[in-house]
Amino acid sequence: MERSVPVSFFVKWPVNTKEYPKKEYQFMKKIILTGDRPTGHLHVGHYVGSLQNRVMLQNSGDFDEIYFMIADSQALTDNAENPEKVRQNVLQVALDYLAVGIDPEKATIFIQSMVPALYELTAYYMDLVTVSRVQRNPTVKAEIQQKNFENSVPLGFFCYPVSQAADITAFHATHVPVGEDQEPMLEQCREIVRKFNSVYGETLTEPDIYLPPNKACYRLPGIDGKAKMSKSLGNCIYLSDDAEDVKKKIMSMYTDPTHIQVSDPGHVEGNTVFTYLDAFSRPEHFAQFLPEYKNLDELKDHYRRGGLGDVKIKKFLNKVMETFLEPIRTRRRSWEAHPDDVYDILEAGSKKAAQKAGETLAEVRRSMRINYFEDRSLLK
Ligand code: ATP
Ligand code: MG
Repeated sequence: MERSVPVSFFVKWPVNTKEYPKKEYQFMKKIILTGDRPTGHLHVGHYVGSLQNRVMLQNSGDFDEIYFMIADSQALTDNAENPEKVRQNVLQVALDYLAVGIDPEKATIFIQSMVPALYELTAYYMDLVTVSRVQRNPTVKAEIQQKNFENSVPLGFFCYPVSQAADITAFHATHVPVGEDQEPMLEQCREIVRKFNSVYGETLTEPDIYLPPNKACYRLPGIDGKAKMSKSLGNCIYLSDDAEDVKKKIMSMYTDPTHIQVSDPGHVEGNTVFTYLDAFSRPEHFAQFLPEYKNLDELKDHYRRGGLGDVKIKKFLNKVMETFLEPIRTRRRSWEAHPDDVYDILEAGSKKAAQKAGETLAEVRRSMRINYFEDRSLLK
């Protein structure tokens, strides 16, 4: 069927063998949980940072359960005055998931706010974390600055590392495929797990981060050269952009300000076009689109020496990006024509997620000995 994804489309991406598997999983289930905030359409930073890994893991057949969460309530923590934006992007994120090849037969896609157990878990975990510990979280710090919150940080936003720990542990996730900006969140989550287990007994599962295959994908910069491509910074190439828009964005990309004439020697480090080539190009792209170079190293050497213009490398990058963007666009269009099917996927997924998280909450309440009406002795 047109909407299903041939596995061969993805298997070419390198598998991150160093990171995986980190633990001995033979006695425990292998479970994936990750998600995205519905604050806009998903972009190519999401693709290299997390989506491509998710699809590879999903298709590996190696996992017992897979959950992908559309984090609407987390998005509301810094968009409280713009709830319409969040609501309207729930469907858009779901379409992006399906477009990249997330398969609802293999993975459960759900909406965070439809899973009430997550909020109760968050409440119990908050008692295990200090304000100063959250204040030290480098991602929270950076985001507070980026959003100009300074002295007016919404409490919900401040606490989002704790609610993220609830999201992960509610599913007993062992693998969390995310970009590098999420590393401090995973660390915070592991601390909460250890603290909970030491106070109440072994209950929660410690998750591992699962990072992308190569370092250039850890935190893809924006087309403006800023440290991170981010929906909130407006410096994105979206997976749903049409070919003309993608081309315009690539041609306007930040390169090396000291490389003025084609003949000038250029810098590759900090040059966004080369960072993108590090993230997206593969040797076969050279044979296909730029046969005068064998690989990226040769292209970089020529740029450093001088005599290679920005337009040429940008046109090459554009061709490389279209090799994966065009099939994503086509699949997105076919799902867009069936919004009711996407609705059904989200409804069924949210029900399943609520059931699973509810079971974990029951285990947590049992460990905390606040499951009063399961055991009369607790109230004696
Ligand atoms: P917002 O600006 O609303 O925070 P965002 O663009 O940062 O949006 P998120 O929904 O916060 O996107 O992130 C979803 C996932 O994508 C996370 O795993 C995050 O690590 C990853 N990710 C986001 N941006 C990038 C990027 N530029 N490079 C690599 N991974 C990224
Ligand atoms: Mg973010």
